[in-house]
Amino acid sequence: MKIEIMAVGGYDEVGRNMTAVKIGEEVVLLDMGWNLEKVLMHFGQYDPRRHSLQDMIEVGAYPDYQYMGSWIDKVKAILISHAHLDHISAIPKLAGVFPNAEIIGTPFAMEVLKESLKQEPNPIPNKIFVMKAGSKKKVGKNFNVEFIHVTHSTPDSVMIALKTPAGTVLYTGDWKLDNQPILGKRTNMQKLKKLGEEGVKVLIADTVRIERESKTPSESMVREMLKDVLWGVQNQENAIFVTTFASHIARLKTIKDLGEKMGRKVIFLGRSMDMYINAANRAGIVDLTKGAEIYGRRKGIERALKQVMKHQSKYLVVITGHQGEPHSVLDRISRKELPFTFDEWDTLIFSSEIIPAPVNQANRAELERRLKPSKVRMFKDIHVSGHAAREDHRDLLKVVHPEHYIPFHGDIRKLASATNLAKDMGYQLGKSVHLLQNGQKIEIN
Ligand SMILES: [Zn+2]
Repeated sequence: MKIEIMAVGGYDEVGRNMTAVKIGEEVVLLDMGWNLEKVLMHFGQYDPRRHSLQDMIEVGAYPDYQYMGSWIDKVKAILISHAHLDHISAIPKLAGVFPNAEIIGTPFAMEVLKESLKQEPNPIPNKIFVMKAGSKKKVGKNFNVEFIHVTHSTPDSVMIALKTPAGTVLYTGDWKLDNQPILGKRTNMQKLKKLGEEGVKVLIADTVRIERESKTPSESMVREMLKDVLWGVQNQENAIFVTTFASHIARLKTIKDLGEKMGRKVIFLGRSMDMYINAANRAGIVDLTKGAEIYGRRKGIERALKQVMKHQSKYLVVITGHQGEPHSVLDRISRKELPFTFDEWDTLIFSSEIIPAPVNQANRAELERRLKPSKVRMFKDIHVSGHAAREDHRDLLKVVHPEHYIPFHGDIRKLASATNLAKDMGYQLGKSVHLLQNGQKIEIN
């Protein structure tokens, strides 16, 4: 038997990840994400009622499943590595193409998925199966699927091991090696080591941050960076706002803890804040609702901001909009569409970095231009990445020492950089390290 692997999406770009693995007459899909940049560029905003499957594929926002040809009818399962949009957001309209495939993911990812499915006009026929990190499940005749816990910038993230009659395929999803995570355990290196000892045929590894010649710092570093800003500047009488990734539950927890230590009431504002915090609560990750206020809808947001305007020093407000996204809370504050205005000496912390795409850079520049006249103090890049850097990748390759290495989740520069790293470690291009582009496939014996 042989392993066949097809790059469906995410091999020419950062986004719309989808990889197909075929053994005999059975196929499983690894992730089913969208490319948010393409969505923003072409539609401004995603409207589940207006944009069809075909629209999404045409603009390059969804993986083009038609590359799969005869594989389409053979799909047994859609395996999801974590809750980020570039790994799950094509499911609502694309999963129906594979009606017999069960969607399998961790509790948090599946809670987030269920929330996004509620916005869709047409339900999907697929069954959803919730599987915890550390668990196994048999799929079809040929796949034993195992979820391995990893640290990342959203909770409940896993690497996916496929044990098959033709050997083991390990798919990394997104990961970092965080030795002091704020939430949950460290990446399960013992398990990865064990897999390496048993033998891994193919490693399919993300490359988002592989060009960075370093080790990605721990999330606990951000706690120190935030403390430094929150407790080290003249802000006692003034409003404090933090904007960050709503899906980054560990970060939200840090901000809430620090806000409470300052004696301020923490308020989370924005639809996605509300959605992710509730998903984390239901998935048993952490309850951030205790002692905090959370408003996702316009009326609640307006009421809360009026209150903050009156008693600025009593609150720490966490909002959406760090990329300057249209209609986010920060975007609407900057356009004076909400009943709060920043003033001199107010604090605005961007606990994020700008995702390097032209549409984000433009949105963020515009946002800052609108905010500047208020003289609000901006603290940018109070952030560490959720993605492994080059030296983390080197360690993973050492521990897993796969026979074959396939980089994904990156443009050609990142994939080439990963190839060079593998070559450093004795792999040979075309023989044991393989560069695929969307639509290409490879057979491994
Ligand atoms: Zn991710």
